[in-house]
Amino acid sequence: MASPQIPGSSKDKRQLTTPKPTALWWVLGALLLLAIGQAFFMTPGGRQIPYSEFKSLVRGGQVAEVAVGDTHIRGVLKKTESGSNAFSTTRIDDPKLVEDLDQAGVKYSGELVSRWLPEILSWVIPILLIIGLWTFFFRRIGGAEGGVMSFARSKAKIFAEDDVKVSFQDVAGVDEAAQELREIVEFLKNPRKYTTLGGKIPKGVLLVGPPGTGKTLLARAVAGEAKVPFFSLSGSEFVEMFVGVGAARVRDLFSQAETKAPCIVFIDELDALGKMRVQSPMGSHEEREQTLNQLLAEMDGFDPRKAIIIMAATNRPEVLDPALLRPGRFDRQVLVDKPDIRGREAVLRIHVKNVKLSPAVDLTKIAARTAGFAGADLANLVNEAALLAARRDKTAVDMADFDEAIDRLIAGLEKKRVINSKEREIIAYHESGHAIVASALEGMDPVHKISIVARGFGALGYTMQLPTEDRYLMQKQDLVNQMTVLLGGRSAEEVALGAISTGAQNDLQRATDLARSMVTEWGMSDKLGLVHFDQGRRARFLDVPMPLERGAYSEDTAQLIDAEVKSLLNQAHNEARRILSEQRDLLERVTRRLLEKEVMEGAELREMIDNAVPQTT
Ligand code: ADP
Ligand code: MG
Ligand code: ZN
Repeated sequence: MASPQIPGSSKDKRQLTTPKPTALWWVLGALLLLAIGQAFFMTPGGRQIPYSEFKSLVRGGQVAEVAVGDTHIRGVLKKTESGSNAFSTTRIDDPKLVEDLDQAGVKYSGELVSRWLPEILSWVIPILLIIGLWTFFFRRIGGAEGGVMSFARSKAKIFAEDDVKVSFQDVAGVDEAAQELREIVEFLKNPRKYTTLGGKIPKGVLLVGPPGTGKTLLARAVAGEAKVPFFSLSGSEFVEMFVGVGAARVRDLFSQAETKAPCIVFIDELDALGKMRVQSPMGSHEEREQTLNQLLAEMDGFDPRKAIIIMAATNRPEVLDPALLRPGRFDRQVLVDKPDIRGREAVLRIHVKNVKLSPAVDLTKIAARTAGFAGADLANLVNEAALLAARRDKTAVDMADFDEAIDRLIAGLEKKRVINSKEREIIAYHESGHAIVASALEGMDPVHKISIVARGFGALGYTMQLPTEDRYLMQKQDLVNQMTVLLGGRSAEEVALGAISTGAQNDLQRATDLARSMVTEWGMSDKLGLVHFDQGRRARFLDVPMPLERGAYSEDTAQLIDAEVKSLLNQAHNEARRILSEQRDLLERVTRRLLEKEVMEGAELREMIDNAVPQTT
C-alpha cells in the first residue's frame, strides 16, 4: 500500500504565526510621543494668569504683544518685572477683546492651533483598541495554531514531564529490551557525540509485547535515565470525532517537542491510531487516517539531528500500518516479552520492597508457580497477597497468602456455587484424567496441583502443571504429548463413565489449535510437508481471535489440512485412552481421593502412582 505523503512538513508552519505584536506597540508609542510633543509645543508657555488679570493688564497698557488662539491667548508684557514676561491665559468668549487691544495699542495676531492630532486620534485610537483586544484574545485561546483549531491543543493536555522518577532499576525481567534501550539513553544524554561522526540516530522505537509487560514503564524509564522531558499521549487520544482534530494534535505535539529537544515523545497504544489504512467504500476512517498521515509526515519532517526520540508501544503489532514500520519511522522494534522464571523473581523482588514479608516467603517458589504471568500480574499478585494478610490481621505476609493469591489470580475468585454430586464426579474423573496422563507421559511438566473447586467462570476444576524450566522450543513429540494431556480429561470421562460432557470444550479448542499450528505453521505433517500455510496475521501477544482468514491455498489443500489435524487429534485421543484404560484402577482411586479432599498436591499424586500396579485389560 502506498503511503500518501503530506506536503508541508513541520517547517512550513513557522510562517503562519500571528503578526508580531511588537510592531503595533511601536506605532502606539510613536503616536503617544507625538501627542506629548504637540501638547508641549502647543500649550501656552509663560505665566498662567486669569482672564480678568489679562484684561486689566491690557487696559493698563502693560501688554506688548498677544497671539490669540482658539483656546488660549499668549502674550508678552512690556516691561520685565520678575524674569519672564511671557504669559498666557485661557480665552473667554469676549467680543470686546479686539476693541480693547486696539485701544491699548497692543500688537495682536491670530494663532492657528492645528487640530490634526485630536482628529487623527479620534479614529486611530478605537482601531488600535480593537486590534489590541483582538490579538490579546487570540493569544489567550489559540496561539500559534490560531483561532478555530486551537481547542485541539487545550483538550489534548500535552505537557512534558520534566522530571521522570522511573529508572531501569524499576523494571525487571526484560533485560534484552532494557539493553537495547540503554543505547537510546546514551544518545539522548549526548546527542552531539553521535551526530558529529555522521551517524544516524534512530527516530522511532516501537515497543511490542503482551499487555502488562512493562512497555509504558520502560518508556518512562528511558526518559528518567536520560533525564529528558517526556511527552506522552495515548493513541486513542488522537482519534476524535471531528475530522482534523487528531492531525492538529499531532502537529501540536511535535511542534512542542521541537522546542524541548532533546526529549522523548511517547505514543502509547499506537494501534488505536496506526491501524492499517483500508480502502473502505464508505470512507469511514477518514479521521484516523488523516491523523496517521500527519504522524507519518511529522516523523519524516523533523530534523534528525534534533534529538527527539519517538517511542511507541503496542500489543498488536500485526495490525499496524506497514508505513509506520518503514525505515526512518518506527524502524527499531524492541520486544518486551513476559518474564522467564528468573525475571519473575526479579519483578517480585521489586514489588515486595514496600511489603512486610515473613521470612518463610520464598520468591523463587512463587516465581516458579507463576509461569505466564506478566509484570503487571506479578505486581497485582503481591498486592493481593498483602491484602489477604491484612484481612487476617497478620503482621507479615506469608507463603499461604501468596498461594491463595496465586490461586485467585489464576482461576478467578473462589465461587460459592453448588455443584451437584453427579457433576462433581464428572469433574473429578476429568481432572484425574489430565493428571494421570500428564504423569504417564515422558517429558511433561510435573503435576503441581489438582483441584475440583469451582473458580471463576467456566473453570470447574483444574490440573496445574509446574514447569521446571522455561521452554522456547518444543519438539513434535512434546506437542503430541501436550495434546494427549489436553484430551486426557475427556478420555477419562469416556473410560470411566462411558459418557461425555461439555466440560472439555476448552481442552478441545486448545488441542485443535495446537494440531492446526503443527500442520500449517510448523511443518510437522508428513502429508503436507514443510509448507507454511499463511493464516493471515495472528494476534501474537493477545488472546483475541483474529478474523479467520484463509491463506492462499486450494480447497483440496484445505481438506487435506483438516484431515491431518483430525488425524493428529485422533492419535492423541487414542493415546490418552490407552493410558487411562491401563491405569483404570489408579484413575478410580485418584478420583475418589479428589472427591474427598477437593484439592490434591502433586506429591500425593506421585505417591499414589508409585503404588499403582498397571493392569492390562
Ligand atoms: P504495558 O504498558 O506493557 O501494558 P505497564 O508498563 O503499564 O505495562 O505495566 C503496568 C505495571 O505493571 C507497571 O506500572 C509496573 O508496576 C508493573 N510492571 C509491569 N512490567 C514490569 C516489569 N517488567 N518490571 C517491574 N514492574 C512491572
Ligand atoms: Mg501500557
Ligand atoms: Zn479439562
